[in-house]
Amino acid sequence: MMTISYEYEGALYVNLTNRCDCACVFCLRHNGHKGSIYADDLWLEHEPSREEALNNLLSRPLASYRELVFCGFGEPMFRTDDILWLVDRLKEQVDGLPPVRINTNGHANLILGRDVTPELAGRIDTVSVSLNGSTAEEYCTVTQPRDGVKGWEAMLDFTRKAAACVPKVVMTIVDKDKSEAEIQQCRALAESLGAQLRIRAYIPD
Ligand code: SF4
Repeated sequence: MMTISYEYEGALYVNLTNRCDCACVFCLRHNGHKGSIYADDLWLEHEPSREEALNNLLSRPLASYRELVFCGFGEPMFRTDDILWLVDRLKEQVDGLPPVRINTNGHANLILGRDVTPELAGRIDTVSVSLNGSTAEEYCTVTQPRDGVKGWEAMLDFTRKAAACVPKVVMTIVDKDKSEAEIQQCRALAESLGAQLRIRAYIPD
């Protein structure tokens, strides 16, 4: 069995892809992990088609969740077109659809070769971008993006553009190994882009 969606703390998480253009040192995709503390079998035997994902989501009590979150065991925005199609279908078919969030590395525009942020407007309520570091150097060390420092620049640019189109944009960092000064730098950077900083607790493997 593979897990297309799973419940966690009152929200429904959707896993559409295992592809990613980063190789974060803390990523659960490494070390032979197939699941996480949240769900088993997040390693997809195939990427679900949009119809397969829609059927899976419609089998859930969608209105009962506090949030619907596209995340993944991978970078969900590789499948931006499918996410937007799914949100459109769900908005048509589900009364009381909860707010929709995407958890992303912020590389969508770099990966897809176009600015997708205007397409998020009216569909996505929250975009959560992994910031991971206060400088390009730290970011690249931690996330090892395929395109190097371009990944850092693309992430910042995406965040700024998303903040103009989406009601809420947050940037996340993990508190582990971060000094108060670094956290302040991250906060200032996030706020300069129109985002809020959210500090997450480190979850060990
Ligand atoms: S961006 Fe996310 S999925 Fe990609 S390597 Fe980093 S933690 Fe893993």
